[in-house]
Amino acid sequence: VFVRALQRVLPFLTAVLTTACVTPDETIDIVHDACQPIAILAGDGATDEERASAAEGMEMWNALAGTRLTGVAEAGAAIVPLEFRLAAAAFFGTYDDETGQIIVNRRLSDARERAVTIAHEIGHAMGLIHVDEDVRLSVMNPANVQITPTREDRAVLVAAWGECPAD
Ligand SMILES: [Zn+2]
Repeated sequence: VFVRALQRVLPFLTAVLTTACVTPDETIDIVHDACQPIAILAGDGATDEERASAAEGMEMWNALAGTRLTGVAEAGAAIVPLEFRLAAAAFFGTYDDETGQIIVNRRLSDARERAVTIAHEIGHAMGLIHVDEDVRLSVMNPANVQITPTREDRAVLVAAWGECPAD
């Protein structure tokens, strides 16, 4: 009976685990100062469309919060590798906080959803944790592919890193 119950619940559990962008614990090990240059570097295998979404995800933060996210490894920039991989459809993206790498599901074919996913994972790289949808709408809602960074998200970033100085 136990095994049968387990069999019934396992697909559900797997779905939950792969849908949520996994931050393994509440402590994000590798984080980057949001006001310093951070290079989000797409791997060699990335398509032009994927690179464009990465640029769009970065611009969402740069325009809102004065961050200095860039697609090129300029001198002094922190490096966050960005890999696109085929994964189950329910999986959107993840920030591996122990290697400091972003992984985005290549099956995510909608450009806007891909850009929002990347903005979400960049949020983790800058130390932001998930915000429950019941609390407020946020780019950091789990499994979010719609909500771009909000003024409240910006406020959380400012609380952590201070106001980013204008160039
Ligand atoms: Zn997440």
